Amino acid sequence: MATSKCPKCDGSSFEIVPAHITAGSEQFRFIQCSDCGVVISAMPAEHLASQLVKALAILEDQIKNLRRP
Ligand SMILES: [Zn+2]
Repeated sequence: MATSKCPKCDGSSFEIVPAHITAGSEQFRFIQCSDCGVVISAMPAEHLASQLVKALAILEDQIKNLRRP
């Protein structure tokens, strides 16, 4: 497998950090080079699968409540 490298410094270690974006209300995180800080990508702070699991749990609770006499 090829080693991923930073386009600026050729570093090969990366980290996920909170993004400080002033516009909008949605929270993001950056994937950045852990050596020089160049941002490689941005992604939603909350993973879509995690949001779906939470939504499913809420729906299951509501269904249980509807079935109670
Ligand atoms: Zn770098």
